[in-house]
Amino acid sequence: MQTYERFLKYVSFDTESDPHSQTVPTTEKQKVLGAYLVEEMKNMGIHDAFMDEKGYVYGSIPASEGCENATALGLIAHMDTASACSGKDIKARIVSNYDGGNILLNADKNIVMSPVDYPSMKKYVGQDLIVTDGTTLLGGDDKAGIAEILSAAEIFLNQPELKHGPLKIGFTPDEEVGRGANYFDVKGFGADLAYTVDGGELGEISYENFNAASAVVTIHGRSVHPGSAKNIMISALQLGMELQSMLPANEQPAYTEGREGFTHLDEMKGDVETCVMDFIIRDHDKAKFEEKKARMEKIVAYLNEKYAGACSIELNLKDSYYNMLEQIKPHMELITKAEEAFRAHGVEPVSLPVRGGTDGARLSYMGLPCPNLCTGGHNYHGRFEYVPVQSMDKIVEILVTLVQSFAK
Ligand SMILES: [Zn+2]
Repeated sequence: MQTYERFLKYVSFDTESDPHSQTVPTTEKQKVLGAYLVEEMKNMGIHDAFMDEKGYVYGSIPASEGCENATALGLIAHMDTASACSGKDIKARIVSNYDGGNILLNADKNIVMSPVDYPSMKKYVGQDLIVTDGTTLLGGDDKAGIAEILSAAEIFLNQPELKHGPLKIGFTPDEEVGRGANYFDVKGFGADLAYTVDGGELGEISYENFNAASAVVTIHGRSVHPGSAKNIMISALQLGMELQSMLPANEQPAYTEGREGFTHLDEMKGDVETCVMDFIIRDHDKAKFEEKKARMEKIVAYLNEKYAGACSIELNLKDSYYNMLEQIKPHMELITKAEEAFRAHGVEPVSLPVRGGTDGARLSYMGLPCPNLCTGGHNYHGRFEYVPVQSMDKIVEILVTLVQSFAK
């Protein structure tokens, strides 16, 4: 089966996850795709394929003869799609031999995808683009990853002369709501090292992400009737603004990029009596990350002293996740081998620090070092998502080369 055929089949399943759900997985429908994948894997010759009760799909291909002691390598992708855009009734189609112009996604609704808005399209003139009908997302994030992994697996099963170590395959639910790693059975999976195949454009390798913390500041002011408030009232809202003004103005999301971190006031609500501020703190650099947290503590301590006896401020600082780089560093072969595999297929690798977290980052701290590889898609989480067929095929070739390189 061609990789794009697999992909078109997978996107016919609605697997949207739900950030407001407390069930595991967050939506039961993800398991329908999970069950289908288990069937497909078994038919292909992955005899131990199964789905657990939480909707995680696992399977493995034993090492080639003589490679039993090679690194056990994992390939991981996620089954759910983002709730930012509907994933129901996706009507994907292939625009063959793309001519570089506008693509009319939907004639009835006059929805057009233009290279003026999405210049990346111009890179794919002459190729075949899988697009939506302009009313849903496509689901390339991350069903392109699933299709690529299973196509690579099929190649190993059909061509036993290709030597490889133990190959482990895992598909998770709920990545888009940040819970994809929550119930991942790292021990049962049995891989020494792994990759998530969940990135964007062909060539991308990510192995750096933010260190992340949340800071909840609760301010207790002093409320009295405004008519008789002179020298008595201390507004919690006003105090909140004073606190915000003590943070560096340029260390905010709107003024930062690349490896620059920030302290971001994400939400502020309250009244004169009480004000709650939700901050997120982000930095790739561990030392700068710690400094940013310490600064928040210092500001709160200063204000508590300044308003002692009248008001009080509580700070609840909590680390969310860490930069995977620290866990990847002892296994840099994950990066060098991936870069070699890309170059072997004529693709120049690009490493960009992720300005967010990844499931691979979480897994890296759960004992499974796990950088992220591209899937080939563009404009994820939206109606203008597209995936070039040729990029998917290229990634399958790269995965096959990469897996083999761990058996040498
Ligand atoms: Zn994804």
